[in-house]
Parts: sequence; structure tokens; C-alpha cells
Amino acid sequence: MYVGVAVKVLLNMHDLNNERAEEIRRVPVIYRGKDGGWTVFEEAVAVSGLMIKRWHFANMVELGGEVCFCDLCKNLEAIRIPSEKSGKARSEFEIIKDCAGEDVHGFLRANPVLRRESMVKFSWMLPLFNDEVVEAFGLPTPFRVVQHTRNIREITENAAKRMNVDLDELRRWQMPYPRSYAAGVYGFVSLLDLKHIGYSFTDKKEINEKERRERRKVALQAYIPLVTGSCGASLARALPVADVLEVVTVLSDKVIPAPIHPIYSEYVEENARLYHSVSKAMRSNVTMYVWSKEKRYSEGKSDSFELKMVEKAADGFSEIIGLLERVGEV
Ligand SMILES: [Zn+2]
Repeated sequence: MYVGVAVKVLLNMHDLNNERAEEIRRVPVIYRGKDGGWTVFEEAVAVSGLMIKRWHFANMVELGGEVCFCDLCKNLEAIRIPSEKSGKARSEFEIIKDCAGEDVHGFLRANPVLRRESMVKFSWMLPLFNDEVVEAFGLPTPFRVVQHTRNIREITENAAKRMNVDLDELRRWQMPYPRSYAAGVYGFVSLLDLKHIGYSFTDKKEINEKERRERRKVALQAYIPLVTGSCGASLARALPVADVLEVVTVLSDKVIPAPIHPIYSEYVEENARLYHSVSKAMRSNVTMYVWSKEKRYSEGKSDSFELKMVEKAADGFSEIIGLLERVGEV
């Protein structure tokens, strides 16, 4: 089974893409206009797929329960296997058997070289084009630099003496430091290959079925915290102020293309047309679950494609988990 996910969410005051420098990261984005033309922004605040992938991985470890993870993954230090020069290096099967992190999120061992592709893939989280936002700010993602201080209670000789530092040092501690925050309507898409979780491509072997089922379930559940933008930097002081707008989940018994990204207008209808045609061409069964705060889409079944509206934001995931439980896949 294969799963596609598309999320559209309004995020205010976020610093999710602060991966290294203090400066907020911006990338070029091209929008397709309603009149068929194109609008180009050289700089829009975006969050990398790497960042979202890392948080999906962290959620898997957190939700793990009975699932096995290696010590590196338990410390959230994925996904690079140390070299195994001396003695017998482990095979792909041996590595994934012992850890759901390397299994689902892939790994690279430099020596001897062994690589496993990730079973889960993420797009960048990109801002949607919004006429009103662009008109007001000239950008799809307005951002501001905010000065913070470290909140030392008092900067006096006495305080310095109590803390055993000199007064100038204490003043430096209190120096304001700048952080950038942005707002925007964002979207991301993802693909999850459930079929090959617990399967070693190089050994052509599967790990035990109970563990595979648990890993599939945890990989699905790990998406849920991501829908409110809990998937980036600065969550301790800038948990995004989120309004989830739409969540689309797709389940197919054969390989599917990644969902069309929410930055494209009418992406839900476009995805319905895409997956309907894919199900016909590939003779596959595809169900698309749509939750929307904005719009009622037309439900229906045609050939082996079905679109179902669901009542609450995470219901698409529950539907998929319930269905897979009934057929013994999770
Ligand atoms: Zn691991």
C-alpha cells in the first residue's frame, strides 16, 4: 500500500526554517496565475523537506511504543550509520531489522558503502499565493525581525556578584538578539511507501510481520503532529499559530505519483483528476480522503477511484489505519 498526503495550513509567527543562520530562509517560487500567466517571487519564506522529514522521524521515535529503534535513533541522531570497517559489516536486512528509523527513513553507511532510500518523502513547505497578502506586503510571506532579550532580572553590581561574573559580562548576556518570524498560508506534500517497510532490497528479505505492521502504523501516525506546523525550528518559543485549512490523504494499492502541491490553485480537484486517471491506467484502487474547512468537494466513486469527505482534520489518517487494520497490514 502507498499513501499520499497534502496539507494546507495558515501559519502565523513561525521561525520553522531557521536551520542554521539567524536569517530566515527564502527561496524562489513560481506561481501559476488564474489567467494562465506566471508570477515569480525571488524570495519567499519556505521550510525545507529535510526539516519536515526530521520531525516525522522524531514523531516516529516518540510514538514508537514496542517498535525497535537503535540507540542513535533513540537520541534522534539519524540517519547515518557509523562505518563498520573491522569485522563483518551488517547487511541492509540486519540494519533494518534492528531499527525502524533506518528502515522507514533510509540510511547511508560510508564504509563499506550501503544506502537505503527513504520510504517516506517530503516536499518543501511552500507559501500559497494570496492576492490580499501580496497586495499588502508585496510578498507571499511577510516577515519581521523581532528583538528578544534573555530576561535577566537585574543588571547591578550585586546581581553580577551573586552570579559570579563581572558587570560587563552580565550586560552582554542581556544584549538584545534578533530573530525573524514569518506568516503565510503554507502547504506540503508527502509520499509514504508502506509496502517496503521492513523489506530489504539488497537481501530480498522481510523482517517479522508483527514488527512491520507496528512500523507502518507509527509511520502513518507520525504525520499527525505535522499538520499544525510542529515541524521546524524554534518550537519552544514560536510554536506556529496555526489554522489547519485542508488535509488530503490518499491510499492506493499500487505506486502513486506524489500529490499535487497546495500552492497550485484547485489542487484538490486536480488531485482527484490525477488519481482517477492513475487508478484507471494502473488498474489500481485509490481512495482520496479530504477534510476541508474551506469548501465542500463533490464525493463519489467512479471506476476504482473514490473521493470521500471526512469530518475532522485527522480523520483521513484514522480511515486509512482502520482499513489497513481490517486487512492485517497494520
Ligand atoms: Zn536507528
